[in-house]
Amino acid sequence: MLKVTKSMIKDVVSKVAGEDCVPIILDLDGRENVSEFIIADELNIDIRELRRKLYKLWEAGLVRFKRKKDKKRGWYIYYWTFIPSRVWFLYRDLRVKKLQKLKERLEQEENNEFYLCPNGCVRLDFSQAVEFDFKCPECGALLVPNDNSRTIAHLKEEIAKLTKEIEEFDKAEKEFEKSQKVKIKKEKERLEREEKEKERKLKEKEKKKAMKKKAKKVKEKKTSKAKKKIKVKKSRKPSNSKNSKKSKSNGKAKKTTSKKKSTKKSKKKN
Ligand SMILES: [Zn+2]
Repeated sequence: MLKVTKSMIKDVVSKVAGEDCVPIILDLDGRENVSEFIIADELNIDIRELRRKLYKLWEAGLVRFKRKKDKKRGWYIYYWTFIPSRVWFLYRDLRVKKLQKLKERLEQEENNEFYLCPNGCVRLDFSQAVEFDFKCPECGALLVPNDNSRTIAHLKEEIAKLTKEIEEFDKAEKEFEKSQKVKIKKEKERLEREEKEKERKLKEKEKKKAMKKKAKKVKEKKTSKAKKKIKVKKSRKPSNSKNSKKSKSNGKAKKTTSKKKSTKKSKKKN
C-alpha cells in the first residue's frame, strides 16, 4: 500500500467531504469493519449525524461498509472501513485539476491587458474596460492599467511546484506498481512451482500404483501358471510321456539313416 500521510488525509477529506469528516477517517485509519456505534461512541457524535457524514464519505469512495443483522434487535448494524488508496487517488486528482485551472489562468494573464479601479472595486480586461469607457462601473473612477507581471511570475511558480509534485507522485506510484508486479510475479511463480510439485507427486503416486498393480498381475500370472502346471502334471499319465519320448527318438533314427543313404549316393557319383 502506498503511504498515505495524515496531512494527505486531512487535505483530501476536507476538500471532498468536509472538514468535519476528517476525525471519522482518522478514527477508522488502520482498522477494519468498525461498528458505527463504536465510532459514534469514540468520537462522541450523535449516531444520525455520524451516519450522514459516513454517507458523504461513502459517496466520495473513501469508505466501504458491511452490514450485519443484529439477531437480538432485528435491525442492521453497519461496519465501516477506510480506503486509503482512494485518498492517494483523490490527492493526485485534486492537484491535477488545480494545475489545469492555474494553467488556464496563466494563459489569460499572458494574453490580456488588465485595468484596475484605483479604489479597488474591480479588475477588468481590455474589452470589458472598453465597454465601460475605462471608468469603474462601481464608483466611476478612471481605471488604471494593471501591471500583472508579478501575478504571472507567481502563477508560473505555482505551476512548476504542482507539476513537480504530480511527477513525484506518479513516480512513487509507478515504483509501487512495479514492486506490486514483482510481488505478484513471485507469488505466481511460487504457485506454479507448488502446482508442478503437486502434479509430480501425483504422477509418482500413480506410477507406483500402476507398478504395484503390474507386479500383482505378474505374480498372479506366475501363481496361476504354476497352478496350471501342477494341474497339467497331475493330469498327464506316465505312459503318455514315455510314448512321446519314443517317437522323438524314432524320428532322429530315421534322419540319420537318410543321411547315411545320401552319403552313399554321393560316393557312387564320385
Ligand atoms: Zn471603483
